[in-house]
Amino acid sequence: MDFLPDDLQHYIEIHTTDEPALLKKINRETNAHVLMPRMLSGHVQGRFLSMISKLVRPKNILEIGTYTGYSAICLAEGLQPDGKLITIDINEELGNRVRRYFEESEFAGKIDYRIGDAQKIIPTLKETFDLVFIDADKENYSIYFDLVVDKVSSGGLILADNVLWSGKVLDAKPDKDTKAIIEFNKKIQSDQRVENLLMPLRDGVMMVRHI
Ligand code: SAH
Ligand code: CA
Repeated sequence: MDFLPDDLQHYIEIHTTDEPALLKKINRETNAHVLMPRMLSGHVQGRFLSMISKLVRPKNILEIGTYTGYSAICLAEGLQPDGKLITIDINEELGNRVRRYFEESEFAGKIDYRIGDAQKIIPTLKETFDLVFIDADKENYSIYFDLVVDKVSSGGLILADNVLWSGKVLDAKPDKDTKAIIEFNKKIQSDQRVENLLMPLRDGVMMVRHI
């Protein structure tokens, strides 16, 4: 997932605002105690999510794929005072840990953490979202896009993570997840309702602005 040489990656990190203390702790504990810690957004991508959210000033945020809550807290940093973030994850085993982290954050009252299948939960949501972060199972990215696009405000932003899939989008014989990401990227590129930018940040972030 790291495309850049270590020394250049380090240079980027030391010229990016530091992680707040709680996020540092979540990062450290996820790496020590949770399976697949590479899924956590991490320092630089986390500051990117925070920066975007502070620019958008969203009233409502939707996150698909909470994992240990790192990206949710980054995104919540930009919420309006009366704003709310809904974050969905299917993995109930992480529930207690994630709830503890959210309670410890300054956004406890603003985060609505739902455990379940995003495909079942999203259709029940009545909110209009100004910012959506798609970061769950890659196979279903296109389905998530279709489920959320009409719930996104005009000028609202959808971010989809890992759209370079460690460079595998260029594979001649792509596996199932890679195929799904390739289809997703194509679908976004041809959708006339949106403007999009494939940002080469970490594993690739597709930025999609609803016109
Ligand atoms: N956004 C997190 C990382 C998410 S990792 C961060 O940046 O720190 C992807 C998560 O998607 C995993 O926790 C996994 O349990 C969740 N996931 C996978 N399939 C899902 C589904 N069908 N519905 C909801 N969440 C799902
Ligand atoms: Ca991710």
